[in-house]
Amino acid sequence: MNSEQLLHIADLYESPVYVYDSEKIINQYNRLKNAFSNVNNLRLNYAVKALSNISVLKLFKTLNSGLDTVSIQEVQLGLKAGFEPESIIFTPNGVSLEEIEAVAALGVQINIDNLSILEQFGTKHPNIPVCIRINPHVMAGGNTNISVGHIDSKFGISIHQIPLLLRIVENTGMTINGIHMHTGSDILDIDVFLYASEILFETAKNFKNLDFIDFGSGFKVPYKSGDIETNIEELGEKLSARFNTFCENYGKELTLAFEPGKFLVSEAGVFLAKVNVVKQTTSTVFAQVDSGFNHLIRPMLYGSQHEIINISNPEGRERFYSVVGYICETDTFANNRRISEISEGDILCFKNAGAYCFTMASNYNSRYRPAEVLIHNGEAHLIRKRETFEDIIKNQIEIELNVEEPNVSVLIPD
Ligand SMILES: *Cc1c(COP(=O)(O)O)cnc(C)c1O
Repeated sequence: MNSEQLLHIADLYESPVYVYDSEKIINQYNRLKNAFSNVNNLRLNYAVKALSNISVLKLFKTLNSGLDTVSIQEVQLGLKAGFEPESIIFTPNGVSLEEIEAVAALGVQINIDNLSILEQFGTKHPNIPVCIRINPHVMAGGNTNISVGHIDSKFGISIHQIPLLLRIVENTGMTINGIHMHTGSDILDIDVFLYASEILFETAKNFKNLDFIDFGSGFKVPYKSGDIETNIEELGEKLSARFNTFCENYGKELTLAFEPGKFLVSEAGVFLAKVNVVKQTTSTVFAQVDSGFNHLIRPMLYGSQHEIINISNPEGRERFYSVVGYICETDTFANNRRISEISEGDILCFKNAGAYCFTMASNYNSRYRPAEVLIHNGEAHLIRKRETFEDIIKNQIEIELNVEEPNVSVLIPD
């Protein structure tokens, strides 16, 4: 993806537009696979919620990836993209028993993360093997927004509840075929991750019919220069060795599973937006683009720093800008950022826009969600049309509202 190609795409499909590079996705997938080449049975289940376009799912299908899904709709998307039900895992949180039953009926591996549903499901369907999501209570990262392993997290079954869990399994006669954790979105420190893994191994010993151990995700990718990136190669070496030892002691060759989202697609995506207005105030120069948190909410929601490049004037003199949107709300993408000189009409390129960007887009301000383009073998393919006014209105129902004329006479005193 070079600037020239991106400018051409912005010209052809107009702005704002998301652009993804299949080569980067493939490289990241293979990097992860190679890091765990010492494990005989490795399963990478791409986390659909990061970027759920059906053409992207099809790309993962060609890589022989599985899918990690969190809603029945994501499961349906995966099936439509051609995935076999057996290569999909359903890892929801707080969904109804009915939804879990419906997904299980499709032949998808289900993963249950609370004791209430586990007991109900096991009682009704003792013959369907389930995976359980464990909360090892290990904080990865340190930002409570994205650490889901801590004591008050809503995710997973606490390791302190294993005795109760075992009783449910025994009473219902159900089979636990997998054990899972997903500690959060940032593995900064491999030792913390390995520590959580030890807890998972320890817990796994309680279950005699395991087929797989799923270590979730949380691989960090750099957003700005100087950011720490998870050392996948080192993690692969250490965890693979530990996993193989566990399998020897367990007496069965299990599958090691991961379900990465961000690691696979974040860096593969950029978001292109056009500068509508350059506005100088007493203290700040604002560059206002034809977008806002309706298209890219991560900077406002998580404080994520997406690098911004002015691809229309890459060699220009650098100046400080606050890049904001056109939404009637504070929608700051970047504060006081050094960017090469911006003129109205320039195209700004937001990096790391592959994961949790389009999938979090909305119609706020009755704006259209952007188009999506996938570059594959050097060629740009439109994989989602920009919405139209028809999309905005299609589910709305206009009703007849008869408002009675106010009776003016009562307002006039006698
Ligand atoms: C969101 C999610 C993932 C993917 O997390 P990333 O940080 O994007 O890799 C994996 N597993 C589960 C259960 C998730 O909810």
